[in-house]
Amino acid sequence: TKWVYTFGDGRAEGASGMRDLLGGKGANLAEMANLGLPVPPGFTITSEVCTYFYAHHKSYPDELKGQVDAALAAIGKIAGKAFGDKSDPLLVSVRSGARASMPGMMDTVLNLGLNDTTVEALATKSGDRRFAFDSYRRFITMYSDVVLGVEHHHFEEILDEYKEDKGYVLDTDLAAEDWVTLVAKYKKKVKAEIGRDFPQDPHDQLWGAIGAVFSSWMNTRANTYRRLHNIPESWGTAVNVQAMVFGNMGDSSATGVAFTRNPSTGEKQLYGEFLINAQGEDVVAGIRTPQEITEAARKAAQSDKPSMESAMPNAFAELVRIYNALEKHYRDMQDLEFTVEKGKLWMLQTRGGKRTAKAALRIAVELASEGLITQNEAIARIDPASLDQLLHPTIDPDAPRDIVANGLPASPGAACGEIVFSSDEAETLKASGKRVILVRVETSPEDIHGMHAAEGILTSRGGMTSHAAVVARGMGKPCVSGAGSVRVDYAANTMRVGGKTLKKGDIITIDGSTGQVLNGEVPMMEPKLSGEFSTLMGWADKARKLKVRANADTPNDATVAVKFGAEGIGLCRTEHMFFEGDRIVAVREMILADDEKGRRAALAKLLPMQRGDFQKLFEIMGDRPVTIRLLDPPLHEFLPHGDEEIADVAKSMGADPQKLRERAQALHEFNPMLGFRGCRLAIAYPEIAEMQARAIFEAAIAAEKRTGKRVIPEVMVPLIATKAELDIVKARIDAMAKAVEKETGFKLEYQTGTMIELPRACLLAKEIAESAEFFSFGTNDLTQTTYGISRDDAASFLGTYTEKGIYPIDPFVSLDPIGVGELVKIGVERGRKTRPDIKLGICGEHGGDPASVAFCHEVGLDYVSCSPFRVPIARLAAAQAAI
Ligand code: PEP
Ligand code: MG
Repeated sequence: TKWVYTFGDGRAEGASGMRDLLGGKGANLAEMANLGLPVPPGFTITSEVCTYFYAHHKSYPDELKGQVDAALAAIGKIAGKAFGDKSDPLLVSVRSGARASMPGMMDTVLNLGLNDTTVEALATKSGDRRFAFDSYRRFITMYSDVVLGVEHHHFEEILDEYKEDKGYVLDTDLAAEDWVTLVAKYKKKVKAEIGRDFPQDPHDQLWGAIGAVFSSWMNTRANTYRRLHNIPESWGTAVNVQAMVFGNMGDSSATGVAFTRNPSTGEKQLYGEFLINAQGEDVVAGIRTPQEITEAARKAAQSDKPSMESAMPNAFAELVRIYNALEKHYRDMQDLEFTVEKGKLWMLQTRGGKRTAKAALRIAVELASEGLITQNEAIARIDPASLDQLLHPTIDPDAPRDIVANGLPASPGAACGEIVFSSDEAETLKASGKRVILVRVETSPEDIHGMHAAEGILTSRGGMTSHAAVVARGMGKPCVSGAGSVRVDYAANTMRVGGKTLKKGDIITIDGSTGQVLNGEVPMMEPKLSGEFSTLMGWADKARKLKVRANADTPNDATVAVKFGAEGIGLCRTEHMFFEGDRIVAVREMILADDEKGRRAALAKLLPMQRGDFQKLFEIMGDRPVTIRLLDPPLHEFLPHGDEEIADVAKSMGADPQKLRERAQALHEFNPMLGFRGCRLAIAYPEIAEMQARAIFEAAIAAEKRTGKRVIPEVMVPLIATKAELDIVKARIDAMAKAVEKETGFKLEYQTGTMIELPRACLLAKEIAESAEFFSFGTNDLTQTTYGISRDDAASFLGTYTEKGIYPIDPFVSLDPIGVGELVKIGVERGRKTRPDIKLGICGEHGGDPASVAFCHEVGLDYVSCSPFRVPIARLAAAQAAI
């Protein structure tokens, strides 16, 4: 088996299509080498070795060692150096690289191959003893941390103490001999911690690092990241070993990162940061504040530090040439890492750049207009779920702003919440229903869970490509990074800024679009959607087959739904209007009534309210279809609970509290979700269904008279399990239609259909379709009843289930295609057998989940219906399913 693939000097054994085997980084390094770009030579150990490693008690295939030695020799030949050589040593970096990018999740070791002998050779060869020993101490620090488990802070403490002793302030104050002394101290510390010497044999070092990279695939950070991004554990990571190039060889050397387009806005401009005389991790870690790459960006930032364009014009020109070539080649915005060693530019990485949803839209639309990709490719490029980010609120431009600090606009959108200084606490507070802003000096992969829990993130250190910025953009969370005037004191749980002290629990607002940090809660505004958004959605609408409707209960929902492109209402849960204003009084009167007469009297009060609501919905929706569902929840839900509440309610409606209590007790059910609800209500109390049907029909007529548009209401009966149930309720609806026609002289057009949300309804769809003109799959209840899991009580164990991998994903979030989905398929097939033109939709929460939308497309539904804010997501997901 071939376990190792080499690259360098204009060719490679791998290529960009081999990401599964070589990981993203390895595949792209190979591709860049094949393109003839300046890539330091190296090799990739495949992800299959990772799989082997875990399947065989952390051991390697027999052939691996020979293949690694051969690859090392090949690199050495290209570089003109030899690994472990005492006079001209080849030094390497060792990095992880999984199939999907996992920024900052895995560990990296630089300068590997240095030891007490080779460091002297490096000093002689480079003519720079300070550089050589600085590199050695960096190597010892990283290697000890990543491979030997001696944490970073041990070395930081030694360094700080040394600087204090000597009266040094900056690292640059240290001379060569200072680093020599520190290297000795570092080695001594390692020995004290692990009981043996820091490894001197470069081959031992290399195998130690390779093992550490493979082991890091299973560390907590990586596990968390995989869980959050649905990356299977089975993929494994590859390991990349590459000849070192040095960005820290003096002022003609540098290191940097760049995006070929702006990752926040999508604007077509080279965008990035670099640091002179530094190594890669210095930029990403955000320890030194980086410089701009282009002059234009430097001017815009009003920085007095020179740009790369002016400081290193030749390397800059080369970077421009390469970035244009890479963008053309990959036909996408790229995220680049590069190093300049003594004036020569080297490419260390290229990959599709992470970007905000806003940037993704603009880039996809512009790439399509530039002719680099097709419209369908542009559609496929956008993660539907990410559109959510665009729907984030922003700060009202007219609101007064009490600015406490300014940082970088690292991830757009505004967020407000209580200050919290630790990620664990962010998680705890979030769980208790609080909104928090996570404030850190800088974030690290250990903070992922806290960032996830927070509404937004604020850091006092780090640039636009710092960990906080990159991760927040990926999550779609507002982030302000590098707010340098903020002094965070973790011990005191405070942050000081400009003479003000803010404590844990104080409310702040951050504006990730401008970088402002504001005092208190600032009014926000609903987002405006860009031109690119409508362009791309227009393309998506042309491509999709599924129609997209919204679940909308109120006129306000309907207005939002139409704005987001809903083509109808797929579900109006009428009961949601029962709580508006003082209607609940009439509802309760109906429930308390002793007989049909009393119920009818109470229902007569509800009729005009329902009719008014429906009329508004019909008027807003015009000639788009509107499905209105008859009352579904158990009546108990409308009654007060607890003695105090019962007394209050009884008093306000002039009822006897004892009677109210008895009625509530009588209606109490052990299992209300499987209890007296859905069509069972309409069957036991037909007068309720009749009132609702009348309200619907009279509203349709009134709306039609006002708008002149034909209204064809769809009346939907919930929770049926058997055709007889539907027939009984349908007879009442039809009779009511007749009555209204007779009273008004108006000819109604309407459809009667049913929710399909019980397994039995799926199985008996053939019979049910004889009476139903449409089906709407209620996959919330269908999931609950298929799994036998209560949708309201599942939270207590679903987490454990998902963690243990029993459910790959919460089945209430994404439709279970093989179980619940199988029932949907049966329902579709059997329903169409009876009535080939039966209208089929879905209105469970799954209607806004991209994977579930794809499923609905496959089984041939006519439409999906989801909450108004998810309508754009569903439109895009439906298009992706169709292309
Ligand atoms: C469903 O069960 O999927 C549904 C849409 O109805 P509800 O959520 O109101 O029970
Ligand atoms: Mg339901």
